[in-house]
Parts: sequence; C-alpha cells; structure tokens
Amino acid sequence: MQSRYSLKLGKPFGIQVSVHWTFSLLIAWIILISVSRGMETTQILMHILFVMALFVCVVLHELGHSLAAIKLGGEVTSITLLPIGGMAHMSKMPEKPKEEFIVSAAGPLVNIVIAALLWGYLATFHTTPINQMEFESITINNFPLMLMAANLFIVAFNLIPAFPMDGGRLFRSALSVRMSRLKATQIAKDIGQVFAIIFIIAGLFFNPFLVIIGFFILLGAKGEYEMIKYQDVLKNYSVNDILSTSYAELDAEDSLGKAAEELIHISDNGFVIKSDGEYAGILTKNDLISGLNAHGKEGKIRDVMRTDLDHVGTETPLFEIYQHMQKNREYLLPVFSDDQLKGVLDLENLNEFFLIKKALV
Ligand SMILES: [Zn+2]
Repeated sequence: MQSRYSLKLGKPFGIQVSVHWTFSLLIAWIILISVSRGMETTQILMHILFVMALFVCVVLHELGHSLAAIKLGGEVTSITLLPIGGMAHMSKMPEKPKEEFIVSAAGPLVNIVIAALLWGYLATFHTTPINQMEFESITINNFPLMLMAANLFIVAFNLIPAFPMDGGRLFRSALSVRMSRLKATQIAKDIGQVFAIIFIIAGLFFNPFLVIIGFFILLGAKGEYEMIKYQDVLKNYSVNDILSTSYAELDAEDSLGKAAEELIHISDNGFVIKSDGEYAGILTKNDLISGLNAHGKEGKIRDVMRTDLDHVGTETPLFEIYQHMQKNREYLLPVFSDDQLKGVLDLENLNEFFLIKKALV
C-alpha cells in the first residue's frame, strides 16, 4: 500500500502507522446508512466514535503481531489501516513454525486482553444489567459492552483458518512441524481459497465487506504461496549463478536519443552507464522512456540514470535479492566483487531462471 494514498498517524515503536484514504469511504458509508435510518446527529457521532475505537483496537492487534515479530528477529516497516482491517508490512518475517505461531497468535491475544479489561470495567463500574440495555444503536451506556463484543468478534473472525489470515497462519505453522514449509503453505492456501470463495458468495447476500475480504484472501494466499515457491527453488543459488557479464554499455554524456536507438538491440532491461570508463549508474528502459518524455532526444543520460542503486555482491543469495528487486521495483542492478563491476542482474533473467529450475524439480 503506497504511503501517498495514506494519512500518517504516528510512529509507535518506530513502526509507521497510517490510515488508507479508502477509510474515509467507510465513514461516509456509516453516515449514509445512519442518515437513511433517520438517526440523530449525536447517534451518528456515537457510531463514528465506535468505529474509531474499534480501529484503535485493530491497530493494537497489528502492534501485537509486529512487536512479537520484532522480538523474534523480524522487521516491521509499517501498519496500514484499511476499511476491512489492519495490515502490518513486514520486511523480514520470523519463519520457524514456533515463531510464526507466536507472531500469528499475538494479534488475537491483544483483543482478548482488551475484551477482558472491558469486562473487568463493566463488572466493576457498570450498574445497568445487560438485559435492560438497549441495543438498537450504540449509546454511552452500551458502548463498552459493544466494544467488548466487537473485540471477541475480531478474535473469532481472525481465527478462521483462511490463510493468510491469522487462523490460516497458525494452521500453517502447525503443519510446518510435520512437512516442508512449501507443502504446508500449499495446503493452507488451498483451504484459504475455499474460505475466500465462501466469503465472497456469502458477502454478496449479506455484507459487501466480506466480498472484499474474500478477494484479499484469494490474492494474498496466491501471492504468498508464489513467494515461498521462489524461496524454495532459489534457496541454493547466489547472484553468481545468473550474473550476466555481457551487458550493454553507454556513456553518461550520451544522449537519450542514442540510448533509445540502442534499446531496440539489447535484451537486458537497460544499460550500464560509465563515465571516464568507470561505472557511473544504470539506465533502465522505464527511466529512459520517462526521460524521453521529460527531456526529449537531446536530453543527457546523466540526468536520468539511477546512481542510487544498491551494489549487489556476487555471493548474495538469489532469493534475498529477488525480494529486494520485487519490493523496490528494480529491474536491473549492477553486480560488484572487490569494488569491480562484474556484470548485471536482470530481474527478467531471474524469473526465467526460477521457471527453468522449477520445471526441473
Ligand atoms: Zn491479525
């Protein structure tokens, strides 16, 4: 989820928490429904307040996952709030079955603690018996009880074994004890997809959010399974295995027009750019096209080439660099050994390498 579509809320424990713009649609939807039911302004505000409180609980849930992951050596970059729930983005996830179990359980556990605290509050301070409460709409009176029920609902819903939801992750981690992570993910993914289809069909009749959640599960399960397949196939290889030593080369002072003419004749995703015979940067196809749009044919390569790209080492594990390139949308990286340019790593070659190795397994 790109941050430019999100409103940044804060940075607890160094984790950027932001709310996605679509969240405003949720608020608009609540107002619309409330107005159409003839609710008063104070009632509507109460409903909005309730949703806000609920999403604070969702943030705490995601922080639960995140802090557990960090404690176990993972890295969490951000938490994004969507109308359908929260998402913690982990750049490094603990992968051992026991660790994954703890990280997955930590989220729902937070909501159990919140529910218990609310229960304690209700038992101590609340005077109205439950059977005398009104549940038509949310009021100051029933607010804590409704919030407690909502937290318990979050727990129950998240524990449905629909990978990549929490329950599905717990299920996979349990399976991983007995079989390979790849096999465990495949089973969890298949079961997750069955649930996703049930959610989508049920959602069409009852609740549009369930449809969206269903699609999220479908795509999420597929995406993560693909990633683990890559990991499984690439785990024994390093950059050296697919380094391409014959690459197209241009000078930083060359024009974009010259690069455009050469582009047709090269098979890589771009050029290595040199200045005075030394490596100076990378010009990818995409940067060339946008450079042509901005500066025309007379523009210089030095003005659009990338000089900030990481220098990859020949011994870097392939899967590690694959994740890095995917995440940062980098298609061509320079490869160095002892400060000498050895060649380039092309994402397209990496994908082909994966397909070939997978076919031979
Ligand atoms: Zn969770």
